[in-house]
Amino acid sequence: MHNIETRLAQIGSQEEPVTGAVSFPVYQATAFRHPKLGQSTGFDYARTKSPTRTVLEEAIAELEAGDAGFACSSGMAALQVIFALFSQGDHLIVSLDLYGGTYRLLEKVMSRFGITASYVDTNDLDALETTVRTNTKAVLIETPTNPLMMVTDIELVASWAKKKGLLTIVDNTLLTPFLQRPIELGADIVIHSATKYLGGHNDVLAGLIVSKGQELSQQLAFLHNSIGAVLGPQDSWLLMRGMKTLALRMERHEYNATRIARHLQQHPMIAEVFYPALENHPQFAIQNKQSKGNTGIFSFKMKDARTIEPILRHIKLIAFAESLGGVESLMTYPAVQTHADIPEEIRRAVGVDDRLLRFSVGIEHVDDLIADLMQAFEAAAAELNGGASR
Ligand SMILES: *Cc1c(COP(=O)(O)O)cnc(C)c1O
Repeated sequence: MHNIETRLAQIGSQEEPVTGAVSFPVYQATAFRHPKLGQSTGFDYARTKSPTRTVLEEAIAELEAGDAGFACSSGMAALQVIFALFSQGDHLIVSLDLYGGTYRLLEKVMSRFGITASYVDTNDLDALETTVRTNTKAVLIETPTNPLMMVTDIELVASWAKKKGLLTIVDNTLLTPFLQRPIELGADIVIHSATKYLGGHNDVLAGLIVSKGQELSQQLAFLHNSIGAVLGPQDSWLLMRGMKTLALRMERHEYNATRIARHLQQHPMIAEVFYPALENHPQFAIQNKQSKGNTGIFSFKMKDARTIEPILRHIKLIAFAESLGGVESLMTYPAVQTHADIPEEIRRAVGVDDRLLRFSVGIEHVDDLIADLMQAFEAAAAELNGGASR
């Protein structure tokens, strides 16, 4: 098998035998003609299977070392398909610090169908032991977590879960298969918000699921088709076009993020930087053991909450916006944006408070990004000092 950089660049490039098109075509069709009764080209109706989507699904399954891939209309749609594996009365163990939308889907939607969740530090085996019940069916891990960048040892949790008969589900959005492959570490299901790094250009909304094992893959194929939140052919094509440059982008994202995180660590206005690439990160060793590198997002806590509003007003190159993983740098204020649906007591208990900013570092020149941040910090400091003396 070729190296992952090669496989990424070649997605769909050798799949079109008729014309030899190097870019796989967008098959904008929902119905497929049957040669005769009892015969099919393999395609019948586009919700079940669609040619452009199939190339994407096979590519992600192979990249994540799984058996089957499923492309969904968003990351949330992918999570909904996965949660539909469970039934009334089932219980899930979920990472304590996690994407706000996942929490909302569990607490405001799945809970109405009798599926409950407990939120724990998934790196704490004792906590897992005390949380597991007879009706627990799965552990859902985000690693690193968004926004606090806590890292879970996937191999450790997956082997614990296997002994208990639980599925291990990993949200691999932040690292992508270029940097981390949870199935190789024992996970059963990987989920992606492909809207983020896989797409990479802040222009396509998509979700991907990869599963290991025949039975589980068949169950997911049934649910994917039954629920119907599938990805359309245009968006499947856009996502594959983005994925071709994933390796290059992730390398630059990591380089830029590491440079900026080190710079901010020294800054007098900053209380703390949360990034697993930094040696003082509590799970630095685990991160290095299980992944090839680091994501391009990190978060940091200002010493003074009053600096947040002026910093967000003064950044010019870096956009104040709610997403991550694209080529353009974005700054997010989790307490009011991505994590607003998580109750304040829970947010504060894990540390997502009003002094925390999340930075999705793009692929611009790192010096330009540092200069933009520093002018925003200086302007914020000047406003606060001006306010104090007035
Ligand atoms: C964005 C995100 C999701 C949700 O994905 P959408 O594509 O926005 O529906 C799920 N998990 C993580 C970690 C995310 O960042």
